[in-house]
Amino acid sequence: MPEIQADLHLHTTFSDGTMTPTEIIRLCVERGLKVISISDHDTTNGLPEAFEVAKSFPDLTIIPGIELSTDVPGGEIHVLGYFVDHNDVDLQKVLQTFRESREGRGEGMVKKLREMNIDITWERVKEIAGEASIGRPHIASALVEAGYVEYPKDAFDKYIGREGPAYVERMKLTPEDAIKLLLDHGVVPVMAHPTYSASKSDRNEVESITEILADLKKAGLVGMEVYYGDYTPEQVSYLKALSEKFDLIPCGGSDYHASGNPDEPEPGMAGPPLSTVEALRAVKASM
Ligand code: AMP
Ligand code: ZN
Ligand code: FE
Ligand code: FE
Repeated sequence: MPEIQADLHLHTTFSDGTMTPTEIIRLCVERGLKVISISDHDTTNGLPEAFEVAKSFPDLTIIPGIELSTDVPGGEIHVLGYFVDHNDVDLQKVLQTFRESREGRGEGMVKKLREMNIDITWERVKEIAGEASIGRPHIASALVEAGYVEYPKDAFDKYIGREGPAYVERMKLTPEDAIKLLLDHGVVPVMAHPTYSASKSDRNEVESITEILADLKKAGLVGMEVYYGDYTPEQVSYLKALSEKFDLIPCGGSDYHASGNPDEPEPGMAGPPLSTVEALRAVKASM
């Protein structure tokens, strides 16, 4: 296997990761990465810090990214966006509404947990999240801290996974909506983790992945993750074939959150070849 030089899927403390942009960039440089993308959920607020720190590392290229969550019947699809402009005021207004809806939803999950006599508070979850775009991992951390579960992933299995008793649905957005939003703002849309991931136990393959990919390609999807986190060689070759079939750029990355879960894929453990970065750049240039 050639050495991995690109990792296009990373989270920071501006969403549900636990490393700051500065910390994650230092780690990526130590690991020999040449191109990375910071792709936080519903926010670009980590990007100014990332670009500032990157000035000290001239050999590292940062592609500004974002990850949007969307729903399809029976599952969810995440859409990554590359080359996002964090100074795009209109886009920021929309992202703000997404983040606000995360607040109400998070509070709803804590309420359900409290009704189950689980003694965590919304105040504490907000403290853990700080200025981040709030997400279930922040609730999971509160559950770990209070001793209800050992690892964050156990909180998903027991309480807040899609099938869990304290799960609350998100604001409804379709993948087509997300793709359109990104394209309208000059951002290159890529489908994230299209299939089951062993380290995210509540994530199943969405039904009829081939039909969905055909529809999303029509909607303007440009790429899909192939070289993802903990995907096995079998999953990678299955997805590589699908990406070729639908003429989608094969993307990927670790999806590192520094989550504290055992066996979490780390920066540099999964990622696409540098030719993928060139292909994404070419699409951006043609927009
Ligand atoms: P949310 O955006 O609030 O719906 O939370 C989704 C995030 O939770 C994902 O991006 C992952 O970081 C994390 N996650 C989802 N499922 C699991 C799981 N089964 N175990 C651990 N983390 C998970
Ligand atoms: Zn996440
Ligand atoms: Fe995701
Ligand atoms: Fe992610």
